Amino acid sequence: MEKILIIEDEKNIARMIALELSREGYDCHCAHDGQEGLTKALGEDYDLILLDVMLPALSGFEVLERLRRERDTAVIMLTARGDIDDRVKGLDLGADDYLSKPFAMRELSARVRAALRHPRKEREDTLLQAGALKADRLAHRAYFGEEEIILTHKEFELLVYFMEHSDVVCSRETLLKEVWGYDYVGDTNLIDVYIRYLRTKIDDRFGVSHFRTVRGLGYSFGAAHE
Ligand code: CA
Repeated sequence: MEKILIIEDEKNIARMIALELSREGYDCHCAHDGQEGLTKALGEDYDLILLDVMLPALSGFEVLERLRRERDTAVIMLTARGDIDDRVKGLDLGADDYLSKPFAMRELSARVRAALRHPRKEREDTLLQAGALKADRLAHRAYFGEEEIILTHKEFELLVYFMEHSDVVCSRETLLKEVWGYDYVGDTNLIDVYIRYLRTKIDDRFGVSHFRTVRGLGYSFGAAHE
């Protein structure tokens, strides 16, 4: 049975989520502040953590940051606000997904299923290469020549997806579905934000151009042109 930790200070919401997910066959546990949540998250093996952002003792971001130093448990952030900064911050700190409150239970279960379907440990350990750009999937590191490129978890996954689909035009919807595991058309602006990060960290820094905007269609990745 897959084990889920719900870190949420609003007890009614926590109870509602636990009830719904238990009914779907998950083993649910709750923590009602950030400190308790972190202790549980570090002390036991969970398959997934639902993590509220606004929490007493430690915020959801702080919990996530400390958790990621030791564990790569899948995390879905529960954000109260719909603003993109909060979402991007959570994803940058290593969250796998986010869900804006209020959400429908059906949406929650879809996201839970998607997060559990992409277990982090089943990745292939191959080295991808496109010219001087290399991505080591086992070590989760990227390099340009000998220089390491520091990428967040999702930036790395997006880069890997592009490298696996070189010279293919990828729509924003496809990228959301394949990299974030969304089963429906979500917020495609997120893709533009992430492409900007990758361009800054790779193309601008090394004076190359890997990421092309294909107007009206999406983006494509190719070996760099100087
Ligand atoms: Ca809260």
